[in-house]
Amino acid sequence: MNKLKFEVLDGIAVITLDNPPVNSLGLELRESIVSALARANADDGVGAMVLIGSGTGFSGGADIREFGTPKAVAYPNLRTVIGEVEDSAKPVIAAIGGVCMGGGLELALGCHFRVAAAGARIALPEVKLGILPGAGGTQRLPRLLGVEAALNIIVSGATVASEKLRDTPLFDAFIDGDLLQGALGFARRVVAEKLPLRRVRDLNVTLPNADAYFQFARNSIKAVAGPYPAPVACVEAVVAAVEKPFEAGLKCERELFAILMMSPESAALRHIFQAERAATHILDVPTDTPVRPIRKAGVIGAGTMGGGIAMSLINAGLPVVLLETQQDALDRGLANIRRNYQGALRKGTLNEASLEQRLALLAPTLDYASLGDVDLVIEAVFENMDVKRQVFEALDAVIKPGAILASNTSALNLDAIAAFTRRPQDVIGLHFFSPANVMRLLEIVRGANTAKDVLATAMRLSKTMGKVAVVSGVCDGFIGNRMLARYGAAAHDLIMAGALPQQVDAALQEFGMAMGPFRVGDLAGLDIGWAGRKRRAAEFPARDFSNAADVLCEAGRFGQKTGAGWYRYEPGSRTPIPDPKVEAVIEEYRRKKGITPRKVESKEIVERCMYALVNEGARIIEDGIAQRSSDIDLVYLNGYGFPAYRGGPMFFADQTGLHEVARALARIAAQPGSDPSVWAPAPLLTRLADQGQTFSAFKGSAK
Ligand code: NAD
Repeated sequence: MNKLKFEVLDGIAVITLDNPPVNSLGLELRESIVSALARANADDGVGAMVLIGSGTGFSGGADIREFGTPKAVAYPNLRTVIGEVEDSAKPVIAAIGGVCMGGGLELALGCHFRVAAAGARIALPEVKLGILPGAGGTQRLPRLLGVEAALNIIVSGATVASEKLRDTPLFDAFIDGDLLQGALGFARRVVAEKLPLRRVRDLNVTLPNADAYFQFARNSIKAVAGPYPAPVACVEAVVAAVEKPFEAGLKCERELFAILMMSPESAALRHIFQAERAATHILDVPTDTPVRPIRKAGVIGAGTMGGGIAMSLINAGLPVVLLETQQDALDRGLANIRRNYQGALRKGTLNEASLEQRLALLAPTLDYASLGDVDLVIEAVFENMDVKRQVFEALDAVIKPGAILASNTSALNLDAIAAFTRRPQDVIGLHFFSPANVMRLLEIVRGANTAKDVLATAMRLSKTMGKVAVVSGVCDGFIGNRMLARYGAAAHDLIMAGALPQQVDAALQEFGMAMGPFRVGDLAGLDIGWAGRKRRAAEFPARDFSNAADVLCEAGRFGQKTGAGWYRYEPGSRTPIPDPKVEAVIEEYRRKKGITPRKVESKEIVERCMYALVNEGARIIEDGIAQRSSDIDLVYLNGYGFPAYRGGPMFFADQTGLHEVARALARIAAQPGSDPSVWAPAPLLTRLADQGQTFSAFKGSAK
């Protein structure tokens, strides 16, 4: 039997799910379970069956790769398998250890008895993919655990340790020693004592004041579910478990499941799930590439980014040498790190002992000689090529051979930085986002000479730090900031055309962005962009980099930190207040540029800003900067506040239809004042649109 082992031990059939890595319940395994049940039931020498998982645990649930394919619904589907288990004439005992999630837990709920080991992880995480447990989980769990406890598990998708459920009716026994031996012992007792089969479907589920409770649950869940339909649907499925007979409840669950499966929100969440897995693969770096050991790290610069990066490394358990050139800068950096940890202490996310442990991992220094034994060093000094040169030359002189030299530069040429050393193969970009200890995104920048094992090591490190890593080639701004520049320019064009910052922000926030671009500008500081434009203007005197924000900066309006930027702020408040002075600046700026303002609708705002992102994303794929469109989505979702329920800008374009996107871009490109070199649809976009393709399905070479 495929993906499964069958053996009879002393009258008990042991059915071991064997589908690494998590015993997902794909078609072959489902077929094998049905065959194994039939075989055990037909064998007179078998008194009962133990269903157990090999490797990491019982089962991680459905095989998500089958979603949307004929295999997902092919006979026997998971519901059928669970029905067969429950209908088995001989007792079936689930032996639950390790991961027992989603369809895996639903399978266990179909068994007549469940025994569990300590450390098992129990969950129905379907809601996190925008769906609900669709193989009886919403009907059986309340029958065992009671409505409230079951609903909490179903709606939160959270993982619960088996110890926490030890004394609940979910488990018939808790096994402290070897799980299989314990389960076999339990099975023999079931046979010897002729214990009646306990079919969960036959249990009663009642709840006093059910109507009032469910109304309360609906209201409170709706309030936190935001745009996602799944959590409220979970409540309705559990209502059906209470109000309807089992079969009717199952039918209701099935209908809700089908509706959710078709929802754009679930499509987006499943896309993200797959995207995160895809991003871990670098096309030309085999998964078995050996990684370099990272036991100790160095960070250069204890400013905003250096401090956060040091914390990310320490939080992952790595000792960190933190270097500055001046004692006062070092003291400031250390004080910031301590303050951040103390904040976590106050919030209760860290205890005193862990705080001390973490700080003990930090070794501040002013001396490059202290970096002699680090395996990795991450530079986060000023964004200036001369300073980067000094640092990388100094590092090259002291860092041991084989150690990795990383830069956190936002936009400087990594290959130029690598050329400051005699070991460009060991140089890589690790582009963290601010605050680095909080933000999940890490752009791993691959230089022309970066060695494959250095890339593999960086991927491993990102996982250790709990980051979502995306590989980017070298270009101005890498993936995220290169796209952001187009988005920002599109937003600026809109205020030039006649919109106001608050209108642009509102439209994009309505679309789902965490914050509109002008609010983001005020938060990050308008002086950063101003300095960048001045530098570029000096480099390329023939080009116009001017921006209405220059006028604001000249007036000392740098954003929140000066109490005014695109908005004004009351002292101590971060609430943006539209400011007539800004309106006057914009009007004057338009007048100088000879622009007659017109009415700009929200639809146009969203269209221009989103399609600017998509078009640049297509060019980024064409240029070979990103490996796949889903990587771009991850960058925007994890680094730029893009709404998860839309799946990222490239997925949003796929859902809209690339033909529609290309047509809109061509229309914008033809409008007076538009720069066709920016707005004309990228060749890849045009090609895919003509072929009726999507970015997600595009696997070929972009060139
Ligand atoms: P920052 O000004 O807050 O910190 C820079 C630190 O480097 C200062 O503490 C300074 O004393 C120190 N420093 C300067 N020269 C040094 C040297 N020769 N040796 C050791 N230390 C030195 O700047 P930041 O915002 O932390 O940015 C650092 C780097 O990270 C830049 O390359 C920047 O582009 C990049 N970055 C910044 C952000 C962000 O949002 N701030 C995000 C991603 C990347």
